[in-house]
Amino acid sequence: MYQYGETAADTTREMAQKHFKASLDSLKSRSLNGPWKLCLPQTSRFHQGSLFLAIETSCDETAAAVFSDEPRILSSVIASQTDLHARFGGVVPEVAARAHLQRLLPVIDEALRQANVRLEDIGCIAVHNTPGLVGALLVGVSAAKMLALVLEVPLIAVNHIEGHIYAARLAAGRDIFPCVGLVVSGGHTVLFHCRDALRFDMLGGTLDDAAGEAFDKVASLLGLGFPGGPAVEREAAQGDPSAVQLPRAFLHDERLDFSFSGLKTAVLYALAGQSQPRPAPPPPGKQRADLAASFQKAVVDVLVAKSRQAMRRTGLKRLAVGGGVAANRSFRAALEAMTRDEGAELFVPPLAMCTDNAAMAAVAVEKWRRQDWAALDLEAVPAWIPPAPT
Ligand code: ADP
Ligand code: MG
Repeated sequence: MYQYGETAADTTREMAQKHFKASLDSLKSRSLNGPWKLCLPQTSRFHQGSLFLAIETSCDETAAAVFSDEPRILSSVIASQTDLHARFGGVVPEVAARAHLQRLLPVIDEALRQANVRLEDIGCIAVHNTPGLVGALLVGVSAAKMLALVLEVPLIAVNHIEGHIYAARLAAGRDIFPCVGLVVSGGHTVLFHCRDALRFDMLGGTLDDAAGEAFDKVASLLGLGFPGGPAVEREAAQGDPSAVQLPRAFLHDERLDFSFSGLKTAVLYALAGQSQPRPAPPPPGKQRADLAASFQKAVVDVLVAKSRQAMRRTGLKRLAVGGGVAANRSFRAALEAMTRDEGAELFVPPLAMCTDNAAMAAVAVEKWRRQDWAALDLEAVPAWIPPAPT
């Protein structure tokens, strides 16, 4: 079990004591325009060259990062909870929230240490406040509000989905917009026309399971454990991707939508026929490896085909891909081949930046440029709200 870092608790407590009275006094002296107006952050203290501290607790990774306004990442620390959830075969929301509570301060402390900065050097707090598990998000959002209040610095709310695309921008080290954006994570599979880092038009999305969710469910059917994506990828490397015929939903459809739930059912039927409700996982061997490889190929074929279609439809020659499934090597190879063929540029983050992390919250820099601050009554919003058309 992770123990609280002495330094983390001490640093934060000391800072809190030092600033709390002053903050209260300054809040009391401000004019009363409703209770929360009192708590609007002090934007005046934030200036060019200030550093951002970002927090991510949307699902099962507790993460913090420090970055500059270039943006340049100074540190990115991730405490994965995979070990805690593995025995349940999936993320248990209550377990995730408790682990975030336990780990967040040490993770923040470690991010500051690795960046070689003190809490007082931080000029802005960024936090993923949507989408995600509500109890998990609340831990990060509450901590971020507390830090913004105590340090008297502005708070910026970051949409986790925009963050996944911004991870590709960070990796590129230059502007990548406008582009087609594809987010393929455990909870979402969405195609966007990204006009800039913050203005997205939705082109299509999954009608049922997300691509990562399909990987996780098929891994469970095949007895490959949790998390499913990397396990299926390892197993698929031993198999023949053309061994089992599996459906590719909407492949020849005009719509830029996805559906993966039929694919998961097809794997189930290929495994045990249509009579058994839930077969025992197959033993290691050719059948299991072939199923994993054929499933992976079916998902990759659809994702790549729809991305190509989205680029042709929008006339854009740039594709940015983010989210956990973008860590899949055979998917990355297929994307590279397709974009080369289309004469388009491909932007994919390095593996560690595909799954959840706080560095991708550097999209906060774009919000900072627009002075898009959040108030201290910022809420954790679990459901993803698709962007309104621009
Ligand atoms: P979320 O933001 O929804 O929590 P993440 O962006 O962290 O999701 O991605 C996690 C998802 O990515 C999981 O469903 C996992 O199975 C999938 N995933 C991770 N690595 C791979 C991989 N190598 N191949 C396929 N899927 C993967
Ligand atoms: Mg994610």
